[in-house]
Amino acid sequence: NVKMVTKLLLLMFAICRLIVTVGLTVDPAGLLRMGVDGQLSVDPADMEAVSTDFGLLGRTEPMAVLRPASAEDVVRLVRTAFNGFTVSARGHGHSINGQAQTSDGVVVEMSHRSGSKKAAQPQVSVQEMHVDVWGGELWIDVLRSTLEYGLAPKSWTDYLYLSVGGTLSNAGISGQAFNHGPQISNVHELDVVTGKGELLTCSEEQNSDLFHSVLGGLGQFGIITRARISLEPAPQRVRWIRVLYSDFSTFTMDQEYLISLHQKPSNQKFDYVEGFVIVDEGLINNWRSSFFSARNPIKISSISASGGVLYCLEITKNYKELSSDTIDQEVESLLKKLNFIPTSVFTTDLPYLDFLDRVHKAEMKLRSKGLWEVPHPWLNLFVPRSRIADFDKGVFKGILGNKTSGPILIYPMNKNKWDHRSSAVIPDEDVFYLVALLRSALDNSEETQTLEHLTNQNHRILKFCDDAGIKVKQYLPHYATQEEWVDHFGDKWAQFYERKMEFDPGRILATGQRIFKPSF
Ligand code: FAD
Repeated sequence: NVKMVTKLLLLMFAICRLIVTVGLTVDPAGLLRMGVDGQLSVDPADMEAVSTDFGLLGRTEPMAVLRPASAEDVVRLVRTAFNGFTVSARGHGHSINGQAQTSDGVVVEMSHRSGSKKAAQPQVSVQEMHVDVWGGELWIDVLRSTLEYGLAPKSWTDYLYLSVGGTLSNAGISGQAFNHGPQISNVHELDVVTGKGELLTCSEEQNSDLFHSVLGGLGQFGIITRARISLEPAPQRVRWIRVLYSDFSTFTMDQEYLISLHQKPSNQKFDYVEGFVIVDEGLINNWRSSFFSARNPIKISSISASGGVLYCLEITKNYKELSSDTIDQEVESLLKKLNFIPTSVFTTDLPYLDFLDRVHKAEMKLRSKGLWEVPHPWLNLFVPRSRIADFDKGVFKGILGNKTSGPILIYPMNKNKWDHRSSAVIPDEDVFYLVALLRSALDNSEETQTLEHLTNQNHRILKFCDDAGIKVKQYLPHYATQEEWVDHFGDKWAQFYERKMEFDPGRILATGQRIFKPSF
């Protein structure tokens, strides 16, 4: 049992390091005696796995990693940590800037729950149309479980290998958000372990301050161990359409028209509205989905684009196989109201699961070419509707040049689908756009694809918005100083701060967000 002894020694060593580094007031063997049902590890491989994230922009090694077996394990850890070391929940590590990392504490690997598999399964209530899931559950597994009952969550992210706790700590948005709101608008109840080590159930009615704080709360108030998510009957198939525009204002007018239909009956609106910017021909088949097949090549050069930029509207209509005879008509009558380039309609049809899981296919392809695990200096912005045309001129037709190094998404959302009581921060306009610059940096390539070039470009974009008075808000925000955070939260800061002091007074949670420093 040499392996066991080595592990134990390593664990003791890490704990001593923890104590020396942060000057713990905790009993040296406190962590060891904590007696978790899951697994507390200092195995170099486990530590390495949580030291980086999808962004690959930095590396921070924690003191130890906990794979909890239950919410009680999280409680035990937080109680031991209180006023001594930090605790960072890690969902699937798909942040960009180390938000789930910590150097002076323990990372809780929420999506590697150890122990009973059965207890970890999502629990669907067909009658109540909701599902109870573990906070570290991946959305792909939530979907698979609910589909067994013919049900599905209503609001999505484009990519499903993200954890429930991770997306609910931000907002969780995709093309359904104009209609159903972000994922944080589709949660009934949460179990949360606060920074004081209390396990509390919260909802609109119960512990409502905690409930609203945690949603979009960047992990600052507690660790979500269970979420109750609203469901709807699952469609079986999806009609997926892309159309092109060369004129930005026609494109945004159509997008805004489509999202204004949110109150119409489902046969009179699309179910998903997104879009992307094409500044460079290669990107029509971007990594997020190879939509246009080789047999259906699109000659972008044959379409005259103003300023060399094209815009692609992406829409879908869900349907049940039984209603397949009416789907053509419904789509046709909606398309008639739009003003895209008439020869540019591209349509495909696929099962609901395949549509929702579309980015995973692209991931597999990129992985096989060694292009997935590369640095991702992503920038996500919410841009107020009133300034989106200025953003187009200054950024898409200006700063970006004619190479983008990754997809650029753009789609509008309705503010009234967001609960202002949540911690999420959005622009103060009825309609605002997500602009997502999802770029990959490559070594040994053209200068325009280097990490340095893309990072500089991001700074230029933010400076351009600042100089032009475009009041953007970062989505998945990343700032280095508390002043910037205060500015980001604006009116919400005072409450955000007050609730932090209430639920995590030691400021030990999710320090990787760099909003608060621990009090010890
Ligand atoms: P992590 O990166 O592990 O954690 C993120 C933050 O949440 C950390 O601060 C962490 O401490 C905290 N946290 C994690 N789990 C919990 C928990 N259980 N309780 C409390 N706090 C917790 N976002 C969208 O909205 N829409 C998209 O379409 C979309 N597509 C994406 C596609 C890709 C390929 C990638 C890499 C990201 C995408 N994202 C999208 C962003 C994604 O939603 C966020 O990065 C999210 O935080 C990732 O979830 P995660 O489980 O990996 O979280």
